[in-house]
Amino acid sequence: MWYKPYGKTGIRLSVVGFGGMRFPRPAQLDEMAQIVVYAHNKGINYFDTAPIYCDDRSEEIMGRAFAVMPRNTFYCSTKCASPQAGEIRRSLERSLERLRVSCIDFFHIWCLLWPDELEKRMAGGAIQTALKAREEGLIRHLVVSTHLAGADIVKVLESGYFEGVTLGYNILNFPFRQEGLAAAQRLKLGVATMNPLGGGLIPRNPERLSFLKGPADRDVTQAALRFNISNPAVTLALVGFASTHEIDQAIAAVENFTPYPAEHSETLKARISASFNGFCTGCGYCLPCPVNVQIPKLMDAYNQKVLGGGDKSILDRLKWQWDIAPDQAAACTQCGQCEEACTQHLEIQERLAYIASLL
Ligand code: SF4
Ligand code: SF4
Repeated sequence: MWYKPYGKTGIRLSVVGFGGMRFPRPAQLDEMAQIVVYAHNKGINYFDTAPIYCDDRSEEIMGRAFAVMPRNTFYCSTKCASPQAGEIRRSLERSLERLRVSCIDFFHIWCLLWPDELEKRMAGGAIQTALKAREEGLIRHLVVSTHLAGADIVKVLESGYFEGVTLGYNILNFPFRQEGLAAAQRLKLGVATMNPLGGGLIPRNPERLSFLKGPADRDVTQAALRFNISNPAVTLALVGFASTHEIDQAIAAVENFTPYPAEHSETLKARISASFNGFCTGCGYCLPCPVNVQIPKLMDAYNQKVLGGGDKSILDRLKWQWDIAPDQAAACTQCGQCEEACTQHLEIQERLAYIASLL
């Protein structure tokens, strides 16, 4: 296993982390815990979970596994999305109990979706409560997870509260996150990436995406994972494991792997842009919209269709990645200014109308 330093913490984490959101039979606590122990035995040392994952069982499953894993051989991560001080504290105490540890190694201020959300977490006392818990030794490192894009991530990281960030990054959405990754690297913060396989889109489209695969890559899944961890700003990629077989596959992707040189990663990015006629790259040049339509996010969801997905995949993307209702697309007044600015010459208005029709 390959280990990378997580920011300035002095901790080295396995480049593949265990994402605890895909346990296939969450009620079978001991059986699922065995998957976690298997990953640990294979050298994975970062285990990420959260309340509500897997019918709210993921933390318990992890806790059963942690009970048989020497405490100095792994790092646990969990989260809370509440802005309220009291709820953060209750959630932290519940997580400690479920995970059967006396300290959470990486506690996330969870899921910042909107640019003003950091202020809300401050106003409600969530950040202050987490910082106090860190002083008490209940939290080792305070980190943040976000679905923000570009400059908004930079602001969160520059706030100085966090020692690392968890964000979605992969070969399909890299333009949204490059600015944030660059800021994390400049500020010497750790970075865990979610969704390295594009929420399953990459393994589901091996033929369409075959141009991502280099001579040394077994398949596009392997290429996508390698793209992720080759980025010097990225500490680890979180993979949601559902079986020991998937753990073996992910480990095979990184074992004896020499990171792609920067030129190769740039070539892959260029291929993505060139190979998808009509693929929104997330560059943001279409903004601002006079009526505040969040064009790049809506176009990112429409990318699912460009890649061969159905209407449900567009709606899922809007809901789970961006937390945007499709009716936002209906706010477009068809002024046309975004299409003039679009670097990919996309028919944005037509796509917005399509999304709005899914209501
Ligand atoms: S065409 Fe619609 S989405 Fe584009 S800038 Fe005008 S109002 Fe906004
Ligand atoms: S300018 Fe075009 S490609 Fe860039 S984010 Fe806007 S819609 Fe996407």
